[in-house]
Amino acid sequence: MSAGPGNDECPFCRIAGGGTDTKFLFSDADVMAFRDRNPHAPVHILIVPRRHIRSINDIKETDQALLGKMIGVAKDMAVREGIMTSGYKLLFNVEKGGGQVVFHLHLHLMGGWKK
Ligand code: 5GP
Ligand code: ZN
Repeated sequence: MSAGPGNDECPFCRIAGGGTDTKFLFSDADVMAFRDRNPHAPVHILIVPRRHIRSINDIKETDQALLGKMIGVAKDMAVREGIMTSGYKLLFNVEKGGGQVVFHLHLHLMGGWKK
């Protein structure tokens, strides 16, 4: 897939545009967070920029604040989900070989496993 900015074919652009019933755990002008619809962990949240960026390979120097914000939102979500102390993973899958399936940048927050 090579969805362009705001492309209707891009699932996360559709979510950003309000075209789905996705429930936001966090949302502002830059970033949104919602639960992964096919969770791979008891807590599995996606932190997603509203703007269409294909992958980490496409970030620019001017995106550094956005990336910092995404990590901050991820940490806040971990606190809210009660997994800050038990711990969690933050993951970017990058391009097909890295397991990326949705080609709109997103950060996975995963945790909540029992010991
Ligand atoms: P990737 O492998 O690209 O890093 O991960 C994409 C993730 O997005 C997958 O875990 C998948 O379950 C999730 N996903 C794909 N489409 C949707 C959607 O429309 N809504 C939600 N909530 N999650 C989605
Ligand atoms: Zn998109």
